[in-house]
Amino acid sequence: MIVNMARSATAEQIQHVIDRIKECGFQAHVIQGEERTIIGAVGNSNRRGEIEALRAAPGVADVIQIAHPFKLVSSQLRKTRTVVDVSGVQIGSGEVVVMAGPCSVESEDQLMETARAVKAAGANMLRGGAYKPRTSPYDFQGLGVEALRFLQKARNETGLPIVTEVMSEGDVEIVTEYADMLQVGARNMQNFSLLRKLATAPRPVLLKRGPSATVKEWMLAAEYLLAGGNPNVVLCERGIKTFETATRNTLDLAAVALAKELSHLPVVADPSHGTGLRSLIVPMSKAAVAAGADGLIIEVHPCPERALSDGPQSLDLAGFSALMKEFRRAQEVEAYESAGVLV
Ligand code: PEP
Ligand code: MN
Repeated sequence: MIVNMARSATAEQIQHVIDRIKECGFQAHVIQGEERTIIGAVGNSNRRGEIEALRAAPGVADVIQIAHPFKLVSSQLRKTRTVVDVSGVQIGSGEVVVMAGPCSVESEDQLMETARAVKAAGANMLRGGAYKPRTSPYDFQGLGVEALRFLQKARNETGLPIVTEVMSEGDVEIVTEYADMLQVGARNMQNFSLLRKLATAPRPVLLKRGPSATVKEWMLAAEYLLAGGNPNVVLCERGIKTFETATRNTLDLAAVALAKELSHLPVVADPSHGTGLRSLIVPMSKAAVAAGADGLIIEVHPCPERALSDGPQSLDLAGFSALMKEFRRAQEVEAYESAGVLV
């Protein structure tokens, strides 16, 4: 339930509503808007009637029911869009944020070469897996802490914030030490004990949609993070399993647009995992941005044919640079258009 306070509500009246919400066994989430305060009552209690009755309390404008089971994630609760700050990079601010780098960190040289190239091409963040969720136990599993050290070196040299996957609860502390943003992999989207742990981590989280997860399940996974105390969550559509076999996954761009409608959180798209095909990365990146994506996460490798994971869906350095040039050109045209220079 949402308690909308009147514009004229006093600090005492707001505090009274917060106290009543807590008394009734709910958590009170206070959102201080520019004009008015909104208080979300979330949790599990059979005293909803008493929250509804707060309509009669002084300073309360309205009490409304949140239509979805995901309360804190819902755009009904927060009208202004959340901007997530990742060590100075703002995701959701209107500028498309590009995270680029190898699927797996394979060596210091491979990572440093990629980091320098994606930085020069205009990427905003560096991605790279240290702990890899692989379908087969015989495939390359990642370099672990050694990879985290290479990522740190790459950040120190290029200034690009790092996003990397944390696969298990036991790794949260060490990954937090090195990374600017913690990625929850698609296969872990419903690992609820990991989500609970990440809810208390002092880092923003990139929450990938599970390959078979509905949009509602994805939003509820994000709700675990927000309800547990971490408001800095970015949703990532990375393709879902369908009957189609021509692409590795089906990049669900309707889900990008829908997630932006349902939620105030930023949404990014992953055209690499979403298609599995290098040739589709450029068109699907453009399509994702057209659908409202706040950013892209793209796999880039200096020599994709030698990649230890996901080579076929990785751009090479020149390919990534070409993609970024196209983007910059499109953004410039847009800027000229909105300034009325082009008609
Ligand atoms: C990755 O980013 O390399 C990765 C394993 O992604 P996903 O969890 O979406 O498969
Ligand atoms: Mn990958």
